[in-house]
Amino acid sequence: MAEKITMGADGVLQVPDEPIIPFIEGDGTGVDIWPAARSVLDAAAAKHGHTVHWTEVLAGEKAYNETGDWLPQETVESFTDHLIGIKGPLTTPIGGGFRSLNVALRQILDLYVCLRPVRWFQGVPSPVKQPELVDMVIFRENTEDIYAGMEVEAMTPEALKLRELLEDAFGWRIREDAGIGIKPISKTGSQRLQRAALQYAVDRGRPRVHWVHKGNIMKFTEGAFQKWGYELVREEFSDVAVGWDDCDGDPGDRILVQDAIADIALQQVLTRPAEFDVIATMNLNGDYLSDALAAQVGGIGIAPGGNANYVTGHGIFEATHGTAPRYAGQDKVNPSSVLLSGVLMFEHIGWQEAADDIVRAVESAVSDKVVTYDFARLMDGATEVKCSEFASAVVDRL
Ligand code: NAP
Repeated sequence: MAEKITMGADGVLQVPDEPIIPFIEGDGTGVDIWPAARSVLDAAAAKHGHTVHWTEVLAGEKAYNETGDWLPQETVESFTDHLIGIKGPLTTPIGGGFRSLNVALRQILDLYVCLRPVRWFQGVPSPVKQPELVDMVIFRENTEDIYAGMEVEAMTPEALKLRELLEDAFGWRIREDAGIGIKPISKTGSQRLQRAALQYAVDRGRPRVHWVHKGNIMKFTEGAFQKWGYELVREEFSDVAVGWDDCDGDPGDRILVQDAIADIALQQVLTRPAEFDVIATMNLNGDYLSDALAAQVGGIGIAPGGNANYVTGHGIFEATHGTAPRYAGQDKVNPSSVLLSGVLMFEHIGWQEAADDIVRAVESAVSDKVVTYDFARLMDGATEVKCSEFASAVVDRL
């Protein structure tokens, strides 16, 4: 019987065997990748006695064409009500009243964690020598930072007013022709993200957590993020985790929590990837870091993502690439990003075996060199298949 996923009083998701899960197909290549991914998700779920009752909700171009609205209220209500959902890529409307549909959904549901696991799949072409050493999970803060959109344009009355205010109150002199952005980093916003990252490490037996920040320069924002992170470890996780300074780098059987300055971290994830495991960082650093790491393990067609609020239980899992409109409807592009986002979703709702099966089957197809065009052009001796054929190859290997 189709039932809703709910949040239990104990803060744990209650997931029936036949949950209702809303999906947004996505614009452009969404018509290709979503049905392909769904066929794999359904087959893997069935193997473990589960059935997903998918219910389509509209957003993006399809919504606009059918309802005149880019993000209909019904869609927001469905995600609010069903807690968990998945989406393909969406065209960002130009002059649509908000910066991006993805950002709008994240803000409405207060999805404060952007979860970006980055790992290499056997056989995926990579620009680095040892991509197998990359196995990191990035927790990117999703609601604050310079990214929150609080900025004023140079030479406008708003910029003039803000400049005057800052000069009067603090004596800060800012050039007349400067645009100005505001960078809020709160203890609340930082610690709820860091709590999610620490809990993830605890639940999955991950041995290290890094706070990545630029606190040497931005002391009261990024530096405070680091400080609040260590405080949280001491106050809430001291039985299972310990900060570097509190153990001289020897955590015993606890999780080691340390921090890294963002510029150095961007070098070290490349030169010493094995030393990084779970990373929590603020919005802008997280944006750079997750895309740089995704490139290290084979890039855009395969990186999954999820946005979640671990308190309310809401989560929307999504392809991290765009709509790639020039390939739309050609049954050509790689469905792995949305498929592996579905894997994250299965993990989030506790369907770990089904998730593991899909990962193994994708690995097997890629190592057999049965791949879509994007990988085929980088591999010797590959068998190039269509998007739907790749999905069938994965189902065959489940
Ligand atoms: P894009 O759609 O990500 O496409 C850029 C390139 O990435 C493609 O030309 C293709 O490269 C590669 N690519 C994308 N998806 C792929 C897949 N599934 N398999 C293999 N390769 C893939 O970026 P864009 O052209 O800048 O953006 C197009 C639209 O998407 C815009 O409206 C943008 O606002 C929107 N967008 C949406 C999201 C989202 O919904 N999360 C994210 C980013 C952008 P090659 O041609 O080299 O093969």
